[in-house]
Amino acid sequence: MAAQKTTGDPLAAARERMVQTQLVARGIRDPKVLYAMGKVLRHLFVEEALRNQAYGDFPLPIGEQQTISQPYMVAFMTEALELLGTEKVLEIGTGCGYQAAILAELAPQVFSIERIHSLAARARRTLESLRYFNVNIKVGDGTLGWPEEAPFDGIMVTAAAPAIPKPLLDQLAPRGRLVIPVGDRYSQTLMVARQTPEGLKYDYRGGCRFVKLIGSYGWEE
Ligand code: SAM
Repeated sequence: MAAQKTTGDPLAAARERMVQTQLVARGIRDPKVLYAMGKVLRHLFVEEALRNQAYGDFPLPIGEQQTISQPYMVAFMTEALELLGTEKVLEIGTGCGYQAAILAELAPQVFSIERIHSLAARARRTLESLRYFNVNIKVGDGTLGWPEEAPFDGIMVTAAAPAIPKPLLDQLAPRGRLVIPVGDRYSQTLMVARQTPEGLKYDYRGGCRFVKLIGSYGWEE
């Protein structure tokens, strides 16, 4: 929900092409998600030498052996949260802050946890420079969630877990959704857990591959 200046943006055409050829063509339908993906300046979240590749159909390195996810995966996971525009959302794995910016376009309150100090610091700077003041980032083990701010209507984990961390399920609001890649170190299934009046319901959304979620309820370092 930040105002960004896009006039004179040399990569605006590449961003629009990304939305059409990578997202719309592959079935992303939520107009709010497509709007956010078309608006957020993804190239400003990667280092200068990679900016021309920022709208390509692949993840990119962001330092510290971590990555910014492929645009389609960002859109697919965001759509799975089914945000209406009133939610409090938690992201685990801030990375460069791009996914947090997408969430910040769709929800009034975004909390994000990153375990690597330098990435969290850079993400904070980038998000502030783009005037995303509704994102709150902390450094720590995201597998423990953010109990002081719980419950959350949506939780998104952007790193691969061996199993769903129980603290995250405990921090879901009634009817809240949790999106998380679960599997071994090499391949995972994207899972959606939903809190319903009858208890938790699980849904499987296909294969994916993420860097490891490291922490008390994740992988060992
Ligand atoms: N969402 C990010 C973005 O838009 O750039 C991409 C995230 S990257 C694929 C995964 C991130 O999860 C890495 O930055 C990694 O350091 C972080 N991570 C791994 N385990 C974590 C944990 N237990 N708590 C918080 N962050 C964690």
